[in-house]
Amino acid sequence: MNISVSDLLGLNTFNITGAPIVSNAADIQQRRDAGVNMSIAGMRHSQGGHTALKDGEMLLTETMNTKPRAHGGSPDAAQADAMPPTTVTVDAGMTWAELHFHLGVLRGAPCVHQSSAHFSIGGSISVNCHGRDINFGSIASTVESLEVLAGDGKTYTASRTQNNDLFRAVIGGYGACGVILNATLKVAPNFMMWRTQNMDKQKPLTLDEYEQHLHKVENEKIDYLQMHHGWVNVSADDYLGKVIAYDVLKVDPQMATNQNGSMELGKDNELKHEGWGEGEILRAGWHAMHGDKNIKKQIWEALVRNCSDTKPYSRINFLRESISFTQSKFDGKGVDMLQEYFVPLSSFKLFMERLKTIFPYNDGDGAMADGVQLNSITIRYVRAEDDERAVPYLSYCPKGQSRISVAVDAYVPFGGQHPCPKARDQFIGAMDAAIERGGSYYLPYYSFADQALFERAYTNVAALKSAIGRYNPDHRFSNEFLKQYKIH
Ligand SMILES: Cc1cc2nc3c(=O)[nH]c(=O)nc-3n(C[C@H](O)[C@H](O)[C@H](O)COP(=O)(O)OP(=O)(O)OC[C@H]3O[C@@H](n4cnc5c(N)ncnc54)[C@H](O)[C@@H]3O)c2cc1C
Repeated sequence: MNISVSDLLGLNTFNITGAPIVSNAADIQQRRDAGVNMSIAGMRHSQGGHTALKDGEMLLTETMNTKPRAHGGSPDAAQADAMPPTTVTVDAGMTWAELHFHLGVLRGAPCVHQSSAHFSIGGSISVNCHGRDINFGSIASTVESLEVLAGDGKTYTASRTQNNDLFRAVIGGYGACGVILNATLKVAPNFMMWRTQNMDKQKPLTLDEYEQHLHKVENEKIDYLQMHHGWVNVSADDYLGKVIAYDVLKVDPQMATNQNGSMELGKDNELKHEGWGEGEILRAGWHAMHGDKNIKKQIWEALVRNCSDTKPYSRINFLRESISFTQSKFDGKGVDMLQEYFVPLSSFKLFMERLKTIFPYNDGDGAMADGVQLNSITIRYVRAEDDERAVPYLSYCPKGQSRISVAVDAYVPFGGQHPCPKARDQFIGAMDAAIERGGSYYLPYYSFADQALFERAYTNVAALKSAIGRYNPDHRFSNEFLKQYKIH
């Protein structure tokens, strides 16, 4: 049988031989023993050939999804003073949104995941995702242990103290050694939080002011600051020169009052589905942005007006923000694409100034010669990991060094299946600028980097290859991304 599969953008299409739904280790083992070569798919949001293997099978893991097992905490979660679990063991096919239902009623919440919740836990660990919580680094810092069915057919427990080479190869390893069956993750308490427009209540900040603000996020021991992200202006006036700083604080009764002066606390285990101010504004304007030059300005002004939200939400609800507005497929002319760069905090302003020359303001009609049009740039802070045993071999954040993530969403004109050469040069220029400043770029997105650029950004590939030789020597689990960069 021949099946044609494409990734989220509809740009990378591969012929595969099958796409079996697997629910447990026995299903996967059976295919391995039958001599099948396989790629592993979570929710398939990665934007390159990360989940497909030409002439191989694609394992669909969504049904690896039994009830999570919580550890620690009070036995009776209904008690007012109940303690949340300390860890939870969860199957890799489950999404964060599904895990919220299980943890919410136990007064717990995930420590780290992406800015939204519709990704699988296996896929999130395999890219070493990061989010908005400033108290943790990437997800690696919150993984206690993993159960992995490796390419050699054996099942291993991997952690900081057990099979640590496998642990570092699987987290952020894009399925290079085998299938994560389940993960034991640290759990955070689910308390109420409140979002404000930076702690000092200034309107949008200049790049200088915002870099100072990031130092505050990193250094000041403000125990009520929980999450942070920045939203950069991409409209014509002050293009890439102003940033809205969103700080999420632990609810302080002195501050978190609504216009009537009351707290309006919601239930902390009640899950929010829709209706985020920021998300709604973006959803309304996103697709009109390519055709109407004024929309970017209107979106920016609406974001500035709406960025102070005095209504408290639980931690879980802050993790459930929708990013569906960014989902668009190749329409024959172009596509919205994500790219992400990581730079040391002290280089943030210089990097942004460089980006402004790489991506000059462009409100064209998607003409190829004009290159990309920026839809948005968002900023996050990724705290350094101090324990070498939890630093993935393919890490974008070296031991002891925090990074600022600069995520670019851009409309990219395409001719046929190829991005216009100017857009390619622009993205490569941005990666190069990040690496020059001691930074890196993120791997789950459409791959513009060549082998040399990849190796400049990721310098510990040899250690990953050595783990692959030990645990997946015949590359029974593989994919086109791993092959593109000669990891397999
Ligand atoms: C709109 C959008 C917003 C995003 N926002 C963020 C963000 O805020 N922060 C961030 O860090 N990232 C972000 N990302 C990137 C995202 O984290 C990755 O694309 C992630 O892998 C998606 O999860 P998934 O379930 O779709 O994984 P998939 O795309 O299905 O898989 C990703 C990789 O993991 C491997 N894999 C999947 N399951 C397993 C398993 N059980 N065992 C071993 N390997 C496995 C796959 O083979 C593949 O190589 C975003 C992506 C998009 C498209």
